Amino acid sequence: MDAESRTAVIGAGIAGLGAARRIMRAGGTPVVFEAENRVGGRIKTVRRADRAYDVGAFIYLGSYAECTQEMLEVGLEAQMHKFDAFGAMPRSGKLNYFDLSSPLKALRTPYLSMGSKIKLTKLLRFLAKHWSDLNYTSAAGVAAIDTDTVTSYCQRELNQEILDYIAAVVVRGPWLSDPSYASVGQLLWTLKNFFKPYFYGLDDGMDAFPRAIAATLPDARLNTAVLNVADTGKGVDVTYVQNGHEHTEQFANAVICTTTGVALEIYPQMAGFAREYYQDTEYICSVNTHIALGTRPSNPATYIMCSPREQPDLCGVIVDHLKANNRCPDGQGMITTFCRHEWCLDHLDAPDDEIVEAVLRFVKPYYGDLSSQVVDYEIGRWRDVVPIMSLGRFKAVDRFMRETDPNARVHLAGDIGPIPGVNGALVSGQAAADRIMNQRKIRGRITA
Ligand SMILES: Cc1cc2nc3c(=O)[nH]c(=O)nc-3n(C[C@H](O)[C@H](O)[C@H](O)COP(=O)(O)OP(=O)(O)OC[C@H]3O[C@@H](n4cnc5c(N)ncnc54)[C@H](O)[C@@H]3O)c2cc1C
Repeated sequence: MDAESRTAVIGAGIAGLGAARRIMRAGGTPVVFEAENRVGGRIKTVRRADRAYDVGAFIYLGSYAECTQEMLEVGLEAQMHKFDAFGAMPRSGKLNYFDLSSPLKALRTPYLSMGSKIKLTKLLRFLAKHWSDLNYTSAAGVAAIDTDTVTSYCQRELNQEILDYIAAVVVRGPWLSDPSYASVGQLLWTLKNFFKPYFYGLDDGMDAFPRAIAATLPDARLNTAVLNVADTGKGVDVTYVQNGHEHTEQFANAVICTTTGVALEIYPQMAGFAREYYQDTEYICSVNTHIALGTRPSNPATYIMCSPREQPDLCGVIVDHLKANNRCPDGQGMITTFCRHEWCLDHLDAPDDEIVEAVLRFVKPYYGDLSSQVVDYEIGRWRDVVPIMSLGRFKAVDRFMRETDPNARVHLAGDIGPIPGVNGALVSGQAAADRIMNQRKIRGRITA
């Protein structure tokens, strides 16, 4: 195969796999390089003794249109099931349940005062006004409102109760972030994403999705770490290590789909605003704990999300046996806890028993004392979960996207676009693939 038609895709996370599949479908030849012995990157499932622990990404939201489409195209329909996003939020130690499929019922909740329920309509109007700005292809609209943190917006426009019990919960739950630095754009994005009252659960684990995409690709090389990517002016040289030996191969193009620190290391030629943007990207940290239980708790919530007033360190719980099939044997249970970024930084290297003991203490008000029920556990320790969407980040995303050169030989992709997460990363990979395949089309027309 000549270098002219090949594209090197570095990283077999969802961005890289999405890019590779898109290139293949448009008639190109992708070659995927993956440093680890598995595909998926931050989508990872650990299997042990009839249990599947989703230790990376936890859920595919119902609003993830591009992921849903891709899952159908790679043959996952039979194992894709919708699960109710039936949530609960504690106040004064008591859980309040929210059924997103009947918002009117949710209005009757005692969780918020009547005054705050009325004030909340202002936030909903703000969301409605910017609904179409919250998209994956342009950050221009959301950049224009990236002038407040969640805290400053709520204190000026809403009230302290909405900040503590709604807005803080919305940026802590999915993002482990804090309203004092999270941009109000992230609050709006998250509200939009959660507007579908279901998740998609895959029977074979969260990683069934990247595995299914990888199975369609002609050349995906595991245990193959890329050391260097160089634009030579005529093509792209990729240097990698395989079986302890270093090799260099030539390609027409490359897409680098790793986290920003790795991308800066392997692509020293990265220049312009992209370099500044990548250097400035900071990631949320997570120490997520997955507890297998001998009996299934009766609590019906698929997830619990906590106000910092209730739980300073615990952001929330996902209930694995209610979010998907086959996570644990019938009658048994599994819950996943996730904690705020700063707590996770402090506990990234803490011993397992200290972490398990802490999270069992956090969930005790909602599940009782589970310590005698624990039959196994897994802990995900991730220094880089998703970029922190702090104040000013959406302006930077917008500039990064606008200054991306469609004619470049080396493209960048990953969860570096308007909103992080699996869908954002997939769309970013697909967009990089489209830019590359467009260049070929134009070149083809010129030479014809
Ligand atoms: C604990 C946790 C929970 C999450 N929960 C959710 C969730 O519920 N929903 C959601 O939408 N998102 C969630 N996310 C975020 C989501 O997983 C990521 O945004 C997304 O998977 C990023 O995909 P990516 O392809 O950009 O990067 P990655 O998945 O990080 O892929 C990068 C790949 O590059 C490889 N690589 C690195 N260096 C090299 C090298 N030198 N050579 C070759 N390969 C290399 C890595 O091994 C990796 O496979 C979660 C993330 C974590 C960690």
